[in-house]
Amino acid sequence: MTVTKQSHLFTKTRREAPADETAKNAQLLIRGGFVHKEMAGVYDLLPLGVRVLNKINGIIREEMNAVGGQEVHLSALQNPETWKTTNRWDDEVVDNWFKTELKAGGMLGLGFTHEEPLTELMKNHISSYRDLPRAVYQIQTKFRNELRAKSGIMRGREFLMKDMYSFSSNEAEHLAFYEKAKEAYFNVFRRVGLGETTYLTFASGGSFSKFSHEFQTVTEAGEDTIYISKENKIAINKEVFTDEVKKDLGLGDDFIEAKAVEVGNIFTLATKFSDALGLTYKDETGEVKPVFMGSYGIGPTRLIGTIVETLADDKGIVWPKSVAPYDVHLVVIGSEKPDVATHAEKIAADLSVQGFDVLLDDRDARTGEKLGDADLIGIPMRVVISEKTMAEGKLEAKARTADAASFMTFDEVVEALKS
Ligand code: ATP
Ligand code: MG
Repeated sequence: MTVTKQSHLFTKTRREAPADETAKNAQLLIRGGFVHKEMAGVYDLLPLGVRVLNKINGIIREEMNAVGGQEVHLSALQNPETWKTTNRWDDEVVDNWFKTELKAGGMLGLGFTHEEPLTELMKNHISSYRDLPRAVYQIQTKFRNELRAKSGIMRGREFLMKDMYSFSSNEAEHLAFYEKAKEAYFNVFRRVGLGETTYLTFASGGSFSKFSHEFQTVTEAGEDTIYISKENKIAINKEVFTDEVKKDLGLGDDFIEAKAVEVGNIFTLATKFSDALGLTYKDETGEVKPVFMGSYGIGPTRLIGTIVETLADDKGIVWPKSVAPYDVHLVVIGSEKPDVATHAEKIAADLSVQGFDVLLDDRDARTGEKLGDADLIGIPMRVVISEKTMAEGKLEAKARTADAASFMTFDEVVEALKS
């Protein structure tokens, strides 16, 4: 695995976030050097941020592949003609389009979702019941002209979405896949450290099914309100929270109101898009039928912000192991002394051989600053190397959320990192 020297990292930590940034997630991510703010709702990912994103995307890919998802990457540029077919080109119908003019004449849109172009594309590949079911996904940039962008990277005007679409012969086949996708979603949120705080939430379902399912993570920074039935570990979005719905779902009357952010959303689309765009297949008897569809979204960049919001403490970010930019933050005290520096590089190399990604703080900086930065950056394990630890023949290890450090041998550190 890799060793990155912090002295080589071009990003610097900062004591203060920009004055115009009010969201805790963006403040901490900017101070730690994970993201850069270009303007409201527009953020760049820096090396540490890219590492976290790649971990999250890796988990999402594993779970989508496990349910048979096949990865694609569609263009962000949208043909108005495709969207006119479903009446979604109209700004009266969709209020968050970014649209642009072609030099050659005519218009293009920047995609805010991809049902239309993918349904159109699949017409080239689905014609028979033998071609079904299929699931197709991408992790791709979306553009939305959001009116308010005050939630940091949890609500970007440009953001990443994992969007998957399923294509089935009929409702029963669709529902079987839908349940598998739901489980895959639970796996994703559990694996990124949000399992305890994320609730399957009944929300408005659009035209076909009564409900869609949102995955809502409880946080004060959320813009949604949900009602949680604690014993059932299920919630209802305020937008559909009525006595009738409570009774329908058999959830009793014992709810807790909470602020939450929608980290994922799964939807039965039925034949809405296949009817409009003409995506059909021939069944076993030769009868032509519309394909039955579903859509499944997760926001990887929103997830980064949500993890920061829900797990950070007063010292900085706390990354779960599974998504941390590095496994271990090796902090060298007295790095100007050649024997200490050499020893630290040896330990870093040995940890890397053991399979860990190491951020080696070899900077010429004060001890307090280095330890403060380690807390801010939030890598799960901090290991200090100094003349003192060298004299003891040990390393000084501390989990990010532990109160105190303890002296350990190299092997003990490896064990702790593995557990
Ligand atoms: P919200 O209600 O929060 O505006 P949405 O219902 O419009 O979200 P979907 O269209 O369901 O969102 O998009 C799928 C997923 O993409 C969401 O569950 C969320 O994780 C992510 N997402 C949506 N909008 C944004 C955004 N502006 N910035 C970052 N992630 C987003
Ligand atoms: Mg939604």
